[in-house]
Amino acid sequence: MAQGTVADIARAPESVTGRMLADPPRHPLPGLARRPPPPADEWLVVEGARLHNLRGIDVRIPLGRLVCVTGVSGSGKSTLVHGVLHASLARLVGRGRRGRGPVGCEAVRGHERLGRVLEVDQSPIGRTPRSCPATYVGLFDEVRRLYAATTEARLRGWRPGRFSFNVAGGRCEACEGQGVRTVEMSFLPDVKVPCEVCGGSRYAAETLEVRWNGRSIADVLAMSVDEAVDLFAAHPRIRHPLELLRDVGLGYLTLGQPSPTLSGGEAQRIKLVAELARVRPEAPDPRARRRAKPTLYLLDEPTVGLHMADVEKLVRVLHRLVDAGHTVVVIEHNLDVIAEADWILDLGPEGGERGGRVVAEGPPERVARRRRGSHTARALREFLAARARR
Ligand code: ZN
Repeated sequence: MAQGTVADIARAPESVTGRMLADPPRHPLPGLARRPPPPADEWLVVEGARLHNLRGIDVRIPLGRLVCVTGVSGSGKSTLVHGVLHASLARLVGRGRRGRGPVGCEAVRGHERLGRVLEVDQSPIGRTPRSCPATYVGLFDEVRRLYAATTEARLRGWRPGRFSFNVAGGRCEACEGQGVRTVEMSFLPDVKVPCEVCGGSRYAAETLEVRWNGRSIADVLAMSVDEAVDLFAAHPRIRHPLELLRDVGLGYLTLGQPSPTLSGGEAQRIKLVAELARVRPEAPDPRARRRAKPTLYLLDEPTVGLHMADVEKLVRVLHRLVDAGHTVVVIEHNLDVIAEADWILDLGPEGGERGGRVVAEGPPERVARRRRGSHTARALREFLAARARR
């Protein structure tokens, strides 16, 4: 799209990278306002955190906010978030409670308000070609129901299970619904080749005779998210998760793309969409939504490997989780994310033995005003000033 110096790239409007260089985002992003700190009883408090280099520190995390944990490498971010916060909440919160008492600290307060703690990372969403975006975000069950409701399927007595590629019945048995076959090569890694029986469609030929809006179910799996949003416009339970996938910049994925071919960043955003899809705007019973306790999401450097434009999309997804009442805690070095936080918790001042303390906390503007003791404060101040000058 462009090549040359940074200035050359910035002059190339057809390049997304060029556009981002010429006009980088300002914070808060358009349409997103900073949330004020919550009332005193809506904070998660970790008291006396003492693990690895943490110096018996007290940490306050506002609930229902986007929180960034920052600090130079080795300052204690991972120890605090994984070793203390996640380990403690896994014991204290939700149905999967593993035991009593906090880990790596003296006490945790305020966790009663949380229903769940969940780490969202870049690990694959599934290791077999049987898993794909449509199955992971849960919309494929609804698609199968549509197919089973067609006249053709009802005449044949086919139920939704007939349109599954995960169980025997309607799928191609030669590849067991994977669409690919694994060929073992002596002395070489296995290779995957399209199934010669179904041609990669995953289904038996009779199953594909059933059409909905002129398309077989294999045609649907071959569609991109962008195309499918239009096709399922009248079916909110399918359209809603598709719109979420499109909003996070994954409109180009096909519904049936095998999970092992997704990048770490794509997998992470699909996981976030699956979480967002649980928050149905048109949920029939508002009381049920109010009863459900919110989740605390943990993310560790989620921007690794993401393009600048995708960082902005990721930030918008995180904000949507917070808008739905959840808390998002992100370990991050990327200033475009840090500047979007409602609250920053900066550890340091240095790494290792010289780290392990809270050196700054508060909204980005307040942290940026700090003159001493925080590398993040200086970097953030210069970053915000440079962005404001444009
Ligand atoms: Zn096959």
